[in-house]
Amino acid sequence: MFLENDINRAGKNGWVEVIVGSMFSGKTEELIRRLNRAKIARQKVEIFKPHIDVRYSEDEVVSHNSNSIRSTPVETSANILLLASNVDVVGIDEAQFFDEGLAEVCNELANQGIRVIVAGLDMDFRGNPFGPIPSLMATAEYVTKVHAVCMRCGNLANYSHRLAEADKLVLLGEKSEYEPLCRNCYQKIYQDTENK
Ligand code: ZN
Repeated sequence: MFLENDINRAGKNGWVEVIVGSMFSGKTEELIRRLNRAKIARQKVEIFKPHIDVRYSEDEVVSHNSNSIRSTPVETSANILLLASNVDVVGIDEAQFFDEGLAEVCNELANQGIRVIVAGLDMDFRGNPFGPIPSLMATAEYVTKVHAVCMRCGNLANYSHRLAEADKLVLLGEKSEYEPLCRNCYQKIYQDTENK
């Protein structure tokens, strides 16, 4: 389990933590767990998510097991810089939907002494690196990769296989549209499709 860095209350030390994984891997639960611990430590916490993620709730970050925490939907990553004033910790959920400027924004916040915790999908449903996540993973101090359970064989899953027939990259979904799969099961599906 990830344990927090020693918090330097006298000096201002910021850093970036990234939590990535497939759909249903528990990214948001882990983000909420860390943010709640920061709150217990009496730190001032602000949470942001892209305006696009309105799956369950307009202004809350909600995990699949219905944990939730109040958050601010923002249009662009630059808005986070403007809104995150006077805070100790910034949380960002569904980071893959933000623009490419997000890594720079997170680093700027960390340089200002803020602890930044970012959660997002590392790959889209095609298995390609998703949006600003690769840059974030490269520049963060800490990267945690969490895994779902493969729906077909029970191994650790790191792919989000889309069941729905839609080509749009951004399809907000639930169990009916996506299933987490391991490498083997994901490969099998694509080999079968190619052989048809
Ligand atoms: Zn599998």
